[in-house]
Amino acid sequence: MSHVFHRSLTASYPVAIGGDGPYLIDADGKRYLDACGGAAVSCLGHSDAAVIAAVQRQVATMAYAHSSFFTTEPMEQLADFLVARAPAGIDSVYFVSGGSEAVESALKMARQYFVERGQPQRRHVIARRQSYHGNTLGALATGGNAWRRQQFEPLLIDVTHVSPCYAWRDQAAHETDGDYVARLGQELEEHIAALGADKVMAFIAEPVVGATAGALPAVAGYFQRMRAICQRHGILLILDEVMCGMGRTGSLFACEQEGVTADLICIAKGLGAGYQPIGAVMVSQDIRDTIRAGTGFFQHGHTYIGHATACAAALAVQRQIEERGLLANVRAMGALLQERLHARFDGHAHVGDIRGRGLFLGLELVQDRTSKQPFDPARRLHARIKAYAMQNGLMCYPMGGTIDGLHGDHILLAPPYIIDASHVDEIVDKLGTAIDTSV
Ligand code: PMP
Repeated sequence: MSHVFHRSLTASYPVAIGGDGPYLIDADGKRYLDACGGAAVSCLGHSDAAVIAAVQRQVATMAYAHSSFFTTEPMEQLADFLVARAPAGIDSVYFVSGGSEAVESALKMARQYFVERGQPQRRHVIARRQSYHGNTLGALATGGNAWRRQQFEPLLIDVTHVSPCYAWRDQAAHETDGDYVARLGQELEEHIAALGADKVMAFIAEPVVGATAGALPAVAGYFQRMRAICQRHGILLILDEVMCGMGRTGSLFACEQEGVTADLICIAKGLGAGYQPIGAVMVSQDIRDTIRAGTGFFQHGHTYIGHATACAAALAVQRQIEERGLLANVRAMGALLQERLHARFDGHAHVGDIRGRGLFLGLELVQDRTSKQPFDPARRLHARIKAYAMQNGLMCYPMGGTIDGLHGDHILLAPPYIIDASHVDEIVDKLGTAIDTSV
């Protein structure tokens, strides 16, 4: 028996020993096309020579210097790179080791910002149902997924949840996008009024919802409306781009496509593309200036902040994406994948919705397409699809609890940005077999 405390203590996992472009290889030599980048992480595939060389160089030069004593060249260069490409208003970067740490750090930064401004009563967070912001206790309290939360209630921080923008299920047939956005805006306004605007610290949302709703984008105008409401009430907007950011949707930051910027933007996964663990919070000038002019010290920290090898890996990843024009490939292959998914599944009795942006796509599975009735959660349909796909050499990311956290299944696709049309065909072919065998 394995002495690793695996997440599933009953499953057995193949042993991954190698990578070849978008494929992972197990100890038996079996190849798996990584159609989900793990969890939307491996955007350069598994054997990028330039990134491997950058990591090797850095680890051999100076792997780690504690951030209370030193800055490092890779950290400074990565911050410059990111800020030069960031949405307006963002002017610094706080580096951490992953997505949950990025969310925790953003929440504490928002809190300290209001304390420094003499408004300590502003500490309530508004998030959305069907959202995921991480698994550490503060981030878990923030996320709205009932299944992930249920065993750990009561959770630590002061959070309430409003509706996500979930047009396929919630937008009425007669409702225009504008009407739908107005309705969700009204809900947020009423929610803020009930709490008292002067108690609310931040509104947090994923521009394209990832793990809990299968690549769910908002309708046009939604984020602009939410941003405007937050600004009117002095509430910070935190965008969680941990999964959808760093080129995944076809633009470096997903919020570029929404025409909004934010006070804090959390990034991780695609930043280091799995070559090293790294995450970050992109911080507005106002927040940095406020904390600098106040105590001058962010009362938070982790051992691996700005880890030099992680920053060197992320810098190499981001340069590769830019120098090789890979975002154009994300858009082209994303469009092709959507087209092929529609061709394969549009008439399928159990594929209700196909959605997403760039190479961040989701399929929502239903008992029947008209009623949109989900499958019984006890069937664990999403998990069966994952298992059949793995048998057949395809990795796709399964999630139950699409609707209320407990009912509803979807499959998330987030392949590496380097795929070509032959990989698109392989994904659709193997996914089709896995779905047909599972339902
Ligand atoms: N936020 C979002 C939107 C995520 O998708 C995730 C991870 N799936 C996290 C936060 C947490 O990231 P990590 O697993 O790196 O802690």
